[in-house]
Amino acid sequence: MKITDVRVHVLSTPLEQPFFFSQGWVRRRSATLVEVTTDTGLVGWGEAFAQGLEAPQIAAAAIEHALKPLVMDADPRDHEVLWHRLYHTTRDYGRKGTIVAAISAIDIALWDLVGKHYGVPIYQLLGGAFRTRVQAYATGFYRVADPDESPRLAEEAVAHYEAGFRAMKVKLGYGVAADVRVMEAVTNAVAGRGVTLMVDTNHAYGVGDAVRLGHALAGYGLRWYEEPVAPEHLAGYREVRSRCAIPIAGGENEHTLYGYRDLLAAGAVDIAQPDIGSAGGFTGCRHIVALAQSHGVQVNPHVWGSAIAQAASLQLIAAVPVAHHSVFPEEPIFEYDRSAHPFRQQLITEPVLHREGWVEIPAGPGLGVEVDREVLRRYAV
Ligand code: CA
Repeated sequence: MKITDVRVHVLSTPLEQPFFFSQGWVRRRSATLVEVTTDTGLVGWGEAFAQGLEAPQIAAAAIEHALKPLVMDADPRDHEVLWHRLYHTTRDYGRKGTIVAAISAIDIALWDLVGKHYGVPIYQLLGGAFRTRVQAYATGFYRVADPDESPRLAEEAVAHYEAGFRAMKVKLGYGVAADVRVMEAVTNAVAGRGVTLMVDTNHAYGVGDAVRLGHALAGYGLRWYEEPVAPEHLAGYREVRSRCAIPIAGGENEHTLYGYRDLLAAGAVDIAQPDIGSAGGFTGCRHIVALAQSHGVQVNPHVWGSAIAQAASLQLIAAVPVAHHSVFPEEPIFEYDRSAHPFRQQLITEPVLHREGWVEIPAGPGLGVEVDREVLRRYAV
């Protein structure tokens, strides 16, 4: 089996209702998809994570100009060898960020091809499924007008609950006082209904405010406190973690085993959150999962991309062991972004949908999804 082509599809569309998180306004949803074809007639799909503020053309250029020539004519079954080739060849200008996201996209497509070649889901290639379904948590609670939109956000919590979600992640990082008011409103709205809450500030604060917020929310029974400080501020993470009672999560902006080596060695997090479209694909995440296990750190993948990234994340979650050495382990939960995304569900013929807050992990070959090419054309940049 030989790779005969690598095609990039850049999709983007404006949002009817833009929203903002602590780092800025999200006005468009975008995706950088990669399609790898072989001489055996198979097609594999991958996706580079495009952050809300990131132009999808950056990863597209990296794939087109830097990575594609490195995998042409190769056998997709050599995905570990190819990952090392892609990483080492781009080291002097890569190692983090969009270059690794671009590597991730190709790596995901290679694993999709190998799964299709052998007729097995990717989780089987990774060693089997620890679980065949996963509880979904609602990601949402963005702001559209004001940092403190407590009444609307309380209503949103009820809407997630009524849709079947029993776990939700609230966007914070809009000022500590406003954050606390929002959490009071959201918590009261779903009190007594068995809802688990998490918070995510997207590294809005320095250590002082991050700790202040952690102390203010100490009694809320939160499952985790995500990205309290900037991703490169490992000492800050450690300080927040040592001074707050809430488990600290992070890693969506960290990459590869090298980035995670430093994150984990610093004692920065209780929960590691690699994004498969950003951290290095299946190969990179497999390295990270082993590292996390050696540190007794739980892995709970992050995902905010389109349907390809969601499908890849589900395959990864199926194969993530409980790595934190507890006899009362918390199972990983699946990030189910409830914010607007005009083409995510249309992109594959059987979209990733939850039922009563749970998602079944596709068991078909590779990623287990089929792409609707009409949608590629409709949203093409
Ligand atoms: Ca996040």
